[in-house]
Order: sequence, then C-alpha cells, then structure tokens
Amino acid sequence: MTLRFKRLTLIGIGLIGSSIALAAHRKELAEEIVISTRTEATLQRARELELGDRYYLDAGEAVEGADLVILCVPVGACEAVTKWIAPSLAPGAIVSDVGSVKEVVINAMQPHLPDTVHFVPAHPIAGTEHSGPDAGFAELFENRWCLLTPLPGSDEQAVARIHEFWTALGSNVEEMDAHRHDRVLAITSHLPHLIAYNLVGTAHDLETVTQREVIKFSAGGFRDSTRLAASDPTMWRDVFLNNKDAVLEMLGRFSEELAALQRAIRWGDGEALYKAFERTRYIRRNIIEAGQETAEPDFGRHVKDAGE
Ligand code: NAP
Repeated sequence: MTLRFKRLTLIGIGLIGSSIALAAHRKELAEEIVISTRTEATLQRARELELGDRYYLDAGEAVEGADLVILCVPVGACEAVTKWIAPSLAPGAIVSDVGSVKEVVINAMQPHLPDTVHFVPAHPIAGTEHSGPDAGFAELFENRWCLLTPLPGSDEQAVARIHEFWTALGSNVEEMDAHRHDRVLAITSHLPHLIAYNLVGTAHDLETVTQREVIKFSAGGFRDSTRLAASDPTMWRDVFLNNKDAVLEMLGRFSEELAALQRAIRWGDGEALYKAFERTRYIRRNIIEAGQETAEPDFGRHVKDAGE
C-alpha cells in the first residue's frame, strides 16, 4: 500500500486544516495539496502562508480529481459542504473529516456521499484556543490521539490508509465506535470546556463588583480555564448542539457530584472533601505517565500547547 496521495483537498483552512496542510507537506504525504474555504479573505491568507498548491472558493471544483478529501469545517457545516462536493467527488476517493462530534456528523454526511467513495470519519484530539489559517503548526498532532470511527462495512483499505495518514502526521491512532467516541469526548473534552466557559463567564460578571482583582490576582486554576474559555465560539456552539445527549448526561452526573461537594462544604465535612480530592489525584498521574501532559507546574504551556 502506498501512503502518498496524489491530491489532498482540504475544505476549511483554520487551525486544523492549516496544521494538516503543513504537516502533510513536511512529511510529503501528498503530491499536491488543494485548499478551499468559503471566504476570499481566508483563502487569500492561506495563499500568503503558502499552505497549498491550488486555492478555490468553490469546494466542488476543489475536490475534482482528489483521492483524499478532508472536511476541516465546523461540525454544523459538514452537511452543507458534503452536499456541495458530492457530485464532484472522484470515484474511489476517500472522504474524511476532523469533527469533534462523530455520530451527528456521520448521519449528516453519509446520506449525501455517492457509493463510489469511501467515508472514514476521524477526530484528531489536538487543538489550541486559536483559530484561522495563521494558528496552524505542523507539530500539532504529534503524540496526540486521533480517533477513527469507521462505519460498519467501511472499506478496510481506505480505513488503513487514513490510519497510516494520521500515524504519519505523528498521531497515535485508535478506532472506536462513533457513539462511544461521543460519550468519551463529552466527559474528557466537552464538559471541561462548558465548565470553563461558565467559570470565566461568572468571574467576568463578578469583575464589575470586584474591579480588576479577578484578573490581576487570578491563580493558576482560573488562568487555565481562561485558555479553554478562549476557544472558538462557533466550533464549541456546534459541539454542544451536536453532542447534546452525551453532554447532558455527563452534566447531570457532574451536577450530582458538585451538589455532594457543596453539601460537604456547608456541613464542614472535611473527611468527605479529602476523600473526594484524594480519589482524583491518581488520574493526573496516569495522564502524565501516558505522555499526554507534562508534570511541570505551568503544564509546559510556555511552549505551544496542544490539547483539545
Ligand atoms: P477554525 O480555525 O475556526 O477554521 C474553520 C474553517 O472552516 C475556516 O476555513 C472557515 O472558513 C470554515 N468555515 C467556518 N464556517 C463555515 C461554514 N458554515 N461553511 C463552510 N466553511 C466554514 O476551526 P478549527 O479549529 O480548524 O476546527 C475545524 C474542525 O475541527 C471543527 O469541526 C472542529 O470540531 C474540529 N476540531 C477542532 C479542534 C480545535 O481544538 N480547534 C480540535 C479537533 C477537531 P472561513 O474562514 O473562510 O469563513
């Protein structure tokens, strides 16, 4: 099997699309990289950054002759883009995406794709709070997970090629059922973002009362939350709208645990608080041991961070 693609088309050239373009170019994974995005301004920026070889506003034209097409647009835009490109896809092409939610995206894309192409959904678990074509960097996916959620009956060779593609970009690749993916990500990524948005929003409301103190004296915990809460609002709106059931389930569990902590604080139950906090410490140790985080006190975030 040859890993190199003849023509890789990226639809959407923000943080993820531009990082794929840079990494694929560096690793020579495609003979030609074609870029498409919906606005002239972003396309022009991609051109200036020399992210690809050819540039199109028309996504249909961009996918012509491509043997790999990756949608790098917000989850909520996947259906419209799929409808747009479907008539122009080359027979045998592999179509993939990078959406942070899988079940809804699969249901939105699959019905519009012709039988002649192979659909292999993917989700690189790598990101920063920055967006747009300037935010990309070739190392984004290194030592990060990329989860593939092939469909029952997916072409094995196409899945294997996408597996190899992401491995070549530096990711650790694993396959997972889409429903399971959405539940796992709801607790590991989506809920933390929701909490961060809420925490920072609450502090912002408080700020009018306590002047600038919240910002001036913000401790590490709050500072870390501001990084998550600075993430792209369009992307995260779409994540919550499209992973509704799993997020609501995790939020319900979270609220129950929070109520238990609230009660322990109210009743001065130090033992309950200690037990709750002790139980969770080992998870961080495991994450560090798994190489997904650094033990440095600043989380190593003086360098470019890469954790969605
Ligand atoms: P981004 O930096 O905001 O870039 C989004 C790209 O999609 C831009 O090229 C934008 O085009 C285009 N776009 C936006 N809305 C669109 C629409 N309605 N129709 C067609 N194109 C549209 O976003 P990103 O962070 O790369 O995220 C892209 C995808 O990656 C999302 O599905 C997200 O769930 C997934 N993802 C993100 C992260 C992360 O941490 N950021 C991590 C893993 C996966 P214009 O600029 O021309 O408007």
